[in-house]
Amino acid sequence: MAHHEPHDEVTGDRMNWLRAGVLGANDGIVSTASLVVGVAGATTDRTQILVAGLAGLFAGAMSMASGEYVSVSSQRDAERALLARERRELADAPEEELEELKEIYEDKGLDEATAGEVARQLTEHDALAAHAEAELHIDPDGLTDPWGAAVASFLSFTAGALLPLAAIAFTPTGLRVPVTVAAAILTLALTGFVSAKLSGANRRRAMIRNVAGGLVAMGVTYAIGSLVGQSIG
Ligand SMILES: [Zn+2]
Repeated sequence: MAHHEPHDEVTGDRMNWLRAGVLGANDGIVSTASLVVGVAGATTDRTQILVAGLAGLFAGAMSMASGEYVSVSSQRDAERALLARERRELADAPEEELEELKEIYEDKGLDEATAGEVARQLTEHDALAAHAEAELHIDPDGLTDPWGAAVASFLSFTAGALLPLAAIAFTPTGLRVPVTVAAAILTLALTGFVSAKLSGANRRRAMIRNVAGGLVAMGVTYAIGSLVGQSIG
């Protein structure tokens, strides 16, 4: 099959996993911090806050994992079907496929002779990989594993969720909300920084945006928790 540089593939894979992990942790921080802050707005009962937080942690982690499993599975099925069709076309009509590849490179700006030479050499090297990349934008050796993606989302969401949960569990009543909000701000600044670093985006803007999103979420649930707590209590 393909003869890619193994190091490039590992790096690219690792980057994707890392990015998904940071996003999962970010979700865990925002949703759990908002949840426990919201419940803390309604009650000072530590057990109630922790039960809600733990239930939220498992609900969120399971929902992330199953969502990720479903989406990666269907993406992989779709990519496999496209690759199978491409493989068939390459077997049935190699001349047309070579011409098609040549036209793709002409459309990208190569002159006819160069495009023909590029298409010929790529086809000779690995026809399926060449078509998969140019036509379908798929790496046939780099299809994502749905189970791996599901477990990674579960673990990263849980890791993120444990931080606000620990903050609210180990802080005395009067300080619960401010300490949890502060812990969420610090960790959201960190996940914002890391995800911006991974994607090459502006770090300061990503950190501010990420923290602001978390603050809005926590502010809204705290307001709702306080209102509900007052009207029930
Ligand atoms: Zn093709």
